[in-house]
Amino acid sequence: MNALAATNRNFRHAARILGLDSKVEKSLLIPFREIKVECTIPKDDGTLVSYVGFRVQHDNARGPMKGGIRYHPEVDPDEVNALAQLMTWKSAVADIPYGGAKGGIGCNPGDLSKSELERLTRVFTQKIHDLIGVHTDVPAPDMGTNAQTMAWILDEYSKFHGHSPAVVTGKPIDLGGSLGREAATGRGVVFATEALLAEHGKSIKGLTFAVQGFGNVGSWAAKIIHERGGKVVAVSDITGAVKNPNGIDIPELIRHKESTGSLKNFQGADSMDANELLVHECDVLIPCALGGVLNRENAADVKAKFIIEAANHPTDPDADEILAKKGVVILPDIYANSGGVTVSYFEWVQNIQGFMWDEDQVNKTLQNYMTRAFHNIKSMCQTHDCNLRMGAFTLGVSRVARATLLRGWEA
Ligand code: GLU
Repeated sequence: MNALAATNRNFRHAARILGLDSKVEKSLLIPFREIKVECTIPKDDGTLVSYVGFRVQHDNARGPMKGGIRYHPEVDPDEVNALAQLMTWKSAVADIPYGGAKGGIGCNPGDLSKSELERLTRVFTQKIHDLIGVHTDVPAPDMGTNAQTMAWILDEYSKFHGHSPAVVTGKPIDLGGSLGREAATGRGVVFATEALLAEHGKSIKGLTFAVQGFGNVGSWAAKIIHERGGKVVAVSDITGAVKNPNGIDIPELIRHKESTGSLKNFQGADSMDANELLVHECDVLIPCALGGVLNRENAADVKAKFIIEAANHPTDPDADEILAKKGVVILPDIYANSGGVTVSYFEWVQNIQGFMWDEDQVNKTLQNYMTRAFHNIKSMCQTHDCNLRMGAFTLGVSRVARATLLRGWEA
């Protein structure tokens, strides 16, 4: 099932549980605006090449639309639509005053030089600058983009609108970025994991973890889990996979990846088949990469007792059913990975106030937000007798529905 079909299905299920009025349901499902632009740039060798860029603005009932920009070959309209919708529910679950959006360019950033990436980002910004803004739509990094990408967007946007640091989040610290933002999604994943485990009378210390994806989110989550005494027994990314039943030295693995660009040939662990990671023996599985990785083909073989969805929509609805029957507890994406957008909100607030927080304040406030959201989800689970995914969806959807109704309907 594709990402949009799966997301719509979860939304409709939540709408049914909430007994949502059909008019409200329809209005929440249809995106506010879908933008598609052609971005043509000269390559370093002078040849012209075109890429398709998207920005889907899903909903703004609760505030400016918010969400990342992804550079990846699999970016397509359905995927961006699904991710934009997930951002709306995610912001509402975190209870930050934002709606949802997502953007992307269908390209392989690894094939582009730094100057080609800069030109592509600037052309994309030129095409969408009138449709984003501090109080309308605020982009951030996602897969294949980073603080440098945000710096280029900020610079290009500022040529048209004047210096506006709050138009993007996840910026470099020197341009008004927030301390703690880079680690925020991974750190939030760990706070979410702790909240869930505490509920089951467990803690990170002594449990075993398998982490799929070792980019920004996966490497920070693995590092913090390692610091807290968790044993990360398997890690994979696009370059390969490694395992060690006694626990991998994560800071060493990060150094190895930084110096060689790959997980291959790491001395402190054995190599393994990357496909095996999702079904590897462990207590907690943390998918931190692409969507749809847990599906009908592999769900029955998952050994983990807990799955923390650090990626967006890693579990498709078929896998959800199979895993539920096996008693696997899944902490859903719209909560588990909300640490990134939550600290984006802190960054935006700091930019608007012109006052910088210290890192401790960022991390402590993030922990408060993550813990509060977990308890809010649990209380929806109790009220509606549903699992954590539906607890999170009903929480997010009900908050957005209330804002929509309060704003009124008449044109
Ligand atoms: N790309 C991240 C996400 O999917 C962060 C979005 C943001 O900070 O706006 O949640």
